[in-house]
Amino acid sequence: MGKQKKFVEEITAMEDNFAQWYTDVVKKADLVDYSSVRGSMIIRPYGYALWENIQKVLDGKIKETGHENVYMPLFIPESLLQKEKDHIEGFAPEVALVTHGGSEELHERLVVRPTSEVLFCDHYANIIHSYRDLPKLYNQWANVVRWEKTTRPFLRTLEFLWQEGHTAHATDEEAAEEVIKMLGVYTELCENYLAIPVIRGQKTEKEKFAGAKYTYTIESLMHDGKALQSGTSHHLGTGFAESFGIQYTDQNGDLQFVHQTSWGLTTRIIGALIMVHGDNRGLVLPPKIAPTQLMIVPIAQHKEGVLDFAYGLKEKLKNVARVGIDASDKTPGWKFNEYEMKGIPIRLEVGPKDIENGQVVLVRRDTGEKSFVPMNQLETVVTELLDDIQRNLFTKAKQHREDKTSIATSLDEFKAKLEENPGFIKAMWCGKQACEEKIKEETSATSRCIPFEQEQVHDNCVVCGDKAEHMVYWAKAY
Ligand SMILES: [Zn+2]
Repeated sequence: MGKQKKFVEEITAMEDNFAQWYTDVVKKADLVDYSSVRGSMIIRPYGYALWENIQKVLDGKIKETGHENVYMPLFIPESLLQKEKDHIEGFAPEVALVTHGGSEELHERLVVRPTSEVLFCDHYANIIHSYRDLPKLYNQWANVVRWEKTTRPFLRTLEFLWQEGHTAHATDEEAAEEVIKMLGVYTELCENYLAIPVIRGQKTEKEKFAGAKYTYTIESLMHDGKALQSGTSHHLGTGFAESFGIQYTDQNGDLQFVHQTSWGLTTRIIGALIMVHGDNRGLVLPPKIAPTQLMIVPIAQHKEGVLDFAYGLKEKLKNVARVGIDASDKTPGWKFNEYEMKGIPIRLEVGPKDIENGQVVLVRRDTGEKSFVPMNQLETVVTELLDDIQRNLFTKAKQHREDKTSIATSLDEFKAKLEENPGFIKAMWCGKQACEEKIKEETSATSRCIPFEQEQVHDNCVVCGDKAEHMVYWAKAY
């Protein structure tokens, strides 16, 4: 018991220091390790397995919606990045540059891709000529580099993994359809697989992607009341096409610019997964993306027949769940803590007494609830339990978000509500950037999005009192 207690004490309680809790969990659950380069992380096997499961679901949906995967180079000639003015202004402060190849100085410096719009544009200008070449629906899985000042594992790192979709269309309407379709794919991934409820909406002009006509986003709320941008989808209009000369001949023989989109989802989403569902015992993983869904812990495994029986259960359950077994000589107490820390949805305990009684013990990670299950019902119960845990995590997260969402009608009320119940603030906005900036200066909350589902919570702007144009979700954000 003493040992077990100490193990749990090794993670800081969320209530005491949320940032430290997060750092403890990513380390103790073996998701990442720090590397010798500041702000770069090593994604360890357990963390990578999680990413692979997310990738598998998302890649399937990207392909189902008609996209093809490609791979673009890591390096971008500096002059190419400078072709689109807004775009370079947005990214210049955080690009990494290669100046030398071996000992020779390069004639032109190379940018390590922070995102690949310009590479796709350069390529599209070469391969798109006619309306018959459209649409082009490309996606790539890659790493990108952004020289961030402050970094935290998964949330902000110099190098991260993501997918970036880049498409070219004949018309503005088609591109607009693509932008909303892919936001829908991200929503489905987050809500149905990661059990993370999201707010869907449009970014303000100030917060939109550099070079985009508009940006759609999904925003989620972490346990500490901070928001996290969880996926974005941009309508690029014809701006890039004009800078890069991406033109096609339409059915009438006239030259037209293509209409483009881009959309991305990154390893940041693992940070969201940790901060939405985790608790003071560690990670809590939604069954649909958990690398291991059920862990078998044999009790008194030195006794005759116990291990054979446990391995038999693993075989029996492998058709209904991703099953692991820990037959190492560590104590059951150590194993319980370890797999709670790793967020494995169900623990199965089986010892000599259970075998005698024809039953096993199941323990849910999300509620800690323990139940005795007769052997002949095991597969059915495990299947139902995984579904139930998945549902429960979503419901809990949604309830938490609702509890942490307030309405404010004046700036004073905004500040007070954000202080007493950190989370989303719903407030009306006139559309002027000065008011948006004032909120940021005075509260450090930023506009997260103008939600598609609008509510008239008040008639006037929360800052200046002028007639309001939109209801906006505001929050402090990662
Ligand atoms: Zn205003």
